[in-house]
Formats: sequence, structure tokens, C-alpha cells
Amino acid sequence: MNYYSLNHKAPNTSFKNAVIKGLAPDKGLYFPQSITPLPKSFWDTIDHLSYSEIAFEAIKQFVSPEIPEDILKTIVEETLSFDFPVVKLNDNISTLELFHGPTMAFKDVGARFMARCLGYFNKNNTNEVTVLVATSGDTGGAVANGFLGVKGVNVVILYPSGKVSNIQEMQLTTLGQNIKALEVNGTFDDCQAMVKTAFLDDQLTSQMQLTSANSINVARWLPQLFYFIFAYKQLHNKYDDIVFSIPSGNFGNVCAGMMAQQLGLPISHFIASNNANNVVTRYLTSQLYEPKPSVQTISNAMDVGAPSNFIRIQEIYKNNFETLKINISSYSFTDDETREAMLEIYNDFNYVADPHGAVGYLGCKAYLKVNPNAHCVFLETAHPTKFLDVVEDVIKEEQPLPKQIQAVMGNKKESFVISTYQELKSFLLS
Ligand SMILES: *Cc1c(COP(=O)(O)O)cnc(C)c1O
Repeated sequence: MNYYSLNHKAPNTSFKNAVIKGLAPDKGLYFPQSITPLPKSFWDTIDHLSYSEIAFEAIKQFVSPEIPEDILKTIVEETLSFDFPVVKLNDNISTLELFHGPTMAFKDVGARFMARCLGYFNKNNTNEVTVLVATSGDTGGAVANGFLGVKGVNVVILYPSGKVSNIQEMQLTTLGQNIKALEVNGTFDDCQAMVKTAFLDDQLTSQMQLTSANSINVARWLPQLFYFIFAYKQLHNKYDDIVFSIPSGNFGNVCAGMMAQQLGLPISHFIASNNANNVVTRYLTSQLYEPKPSVQTISNAMDVGAPSNFIRIQEIYKNNFETLKINISSYSFTDDETREAMLEIYNDFNYVADPHGAVGYLGCKAYLKVNPNAHCVFLETAHPTKFLDVVEDVIKEEQPLPKQIQAVMGNKKESFVISTYQELKSFLLS
């Protein structure tokens, strides 16, 4: 599959090159040149297919021929070595739990898939690649875990000192090997700005191959489309009108759901559920796209003022506002509403949701008010213990730590403290 740049000022390129480069030379996001719906037989026989078989069929066209089919089979099997259960709350609402991976965040799937693709492209170890990534919390852990031990790939993670949870910090600073953590005296925005400066620094990029592992990278973004098909497999015999509510930040996840729709997934509507960072909610009412600096919330993985994948969503619907509006609704909720929702989910359904999932739940409720016959699935994007302080404070009950989390607690933290871009550059060149 070839990919084109959404800035339309760079040549088309292969999947391999799109993964290794991350962004096109004109700074545009890459987008696949064509999307061929899966055959009817695929959807008709989905009950008999395993998750790996589904994933293989769904992603094949986007990665071939550069990744041969037998290799791709192994990659998806290794990527998907945990479960993706749908849990029913009532007749109208279920949750799709995406937190059963090694770092208990949905980003595990994209990170593991991308790591294996890069590992394959680098198998002869000719060109070392450095994955440079800024994290506000969850991305760092998933990328560290996914890329650990991948030959020919070095990972450098920037995180804001004192602004990620203890669990998240352990997940990204204790692995060693090819994973390096840089603790930045500053905010997440400062980390992201340093990463952007690095990608634009010709002196640096002429000496090393840098790539990103955020959802701008097609190999991180596209495998997320699996989730929606996995949920459909579990629910299609029970409900006719399934919709998804996706707690959204950079809009990579919801955009991947729309790619599944393009592959023929019979889903007519998506709900982008936002916290106070609501540029898309506002856009859908006013048709004015006005990014703002992000504000801090309790669902901090969604504290994004200018969602990087929204341009891909516009491409999917051919930049037609009316088509977009038919396919997506968006709602925005405050932290107080989110806390109330966490308590309601706990009291009414005896289910512990994390703040991001709770925002998704609120999106379902808002949509169901107008569409009472739908079955709304909200994505639980992180395990509640990753946001332990908020969760225990709201539901007033201590949460047991899952084994994945216990495994990293108490390990030795190794990080290198930096304050300026110059220090980042010296670190990368040393
Ligand atoms: C990254 C993340 C999100 C937002 O996903 P996007 O694809 O950026 O919209 C939501 N919840 C959690 C827990 C996350 O880590």
C-alpha cells in the first residue's frame, strides 16, 4: 500500500517508509491511497474467526507487500496476546475493555504492532532507528514495553517531571535495555515542543533516523481499527444498532474506528467524548475549527488542544461537513460530571471505570437521550488503577493492584534529567 501526505506537497511513499519516517517531508500525516472494503464473506463468517484472523484480514491491505503474509500473521498474533472483552452494563450500554495488555492502556496494541513492524524492517540491523516520543503518561509506558528488546531500534521517551503518576513513571523508567527515559523540567507541552524541534533539526536528522510513535505514525494508528471489529463480533447477534463512544484526545482511536467503517463494519455512528478540551465538539456546532492551548483535567490523556488526527477524519469524509456530521457526534464534559459518572457507574452497575472511560459513558448517555434504541459501547481505554488517586477518592474504596502493575512497582527508576532542547540534542548525539 502506498501512502500520501495530507499536506499534498510530498511524494507518495510505501508503508515501510511511512513507518520509518513517521511524518511526510512536508510535515503532513500519511494516509492510505485506497481502502478496499472487506468481502461480505468476512462479515458473514466473523463468528468463526479468531481475533488474530480478523486482525490479519483487516490490516493486510495496508501493509502488503512490504510485510509478507506469514510475517504479518506472527506480528498480529504476538500483538494480540490478551483479551478484549465487552462487558454489558445494561440493555443500552456496554463497555469494551481495552486495558488487558501489559501496560493496561489501549495504546499497547498500536505500540506492539508498530514495534514489530519496525523490528521486521530493521532485521538486518543496517539502519538504526531512534523512536522519539513525548508522553503525558500512557503512551510512554506502552511504547517502552512494546519496543523493549527490538533490535536496531532505540527508544527515547520524554516525560514531564512530577506530572505523571507513580505507576506511569515506573512503567517507562525501569525497563532499561534499548529504552531511555528523559525527565523534563517542564510540562507535557514542553516535551512535545522539544520533540517537534528535534524532527525539524536538519543537523540532527542528517545524523540519525528519527521516527515518532504517536498516533501520527500509521503503524501505531491503524491497528486500533481492530477493537471496533472485535466488539462487533461480540455484539452483532444481540443488537442491531451498535454505536461507539470513544474518549478522545488526539482522535487517533475514533479515526481508526472510522477506518473500520470504511472496511465495511456496519456501524453508522461514532461519538467522540471529550473533557474540557473540546475543539471538535465546538466545531460540530459552529463549523469553526479553533484549537486552543490544552487545559488540565482528571482524564489527562485527553488533554489535547489541537488533535493531530482530526485531519485524517476530514479526509475520510472527503472534507464534507454534512457527511461528517451524520457519522459523528461529540460531547464535552467537566471533571465534576466525570466524577459523578464514575460514582454512578460504580453504584448502579458495580463497575469501576477510570476517568477516561467515564467520559465515554457520559457520551453514551447523551447520545441515548436522542437515540433511545441504540446500543452504545464506550471504550474503557485504561485500567482504573492507572488513575488510582482519582478513582479511590471518588468511589471511596481501595483498589487491588493488578499483576502487570505490581510487576513494575519497586523497580529501580533510571532517568536522565534535562531542561532544554540543547540537552536533548546532546543526549541524542552522544
Ligand atoms: C491516549 C488515550 C486516550 C485518547 O486517545 P486518542 O487516540 O488520542 O484520541 C484516551 N484514553 C486514554 C487512557 C489514553 O491513554
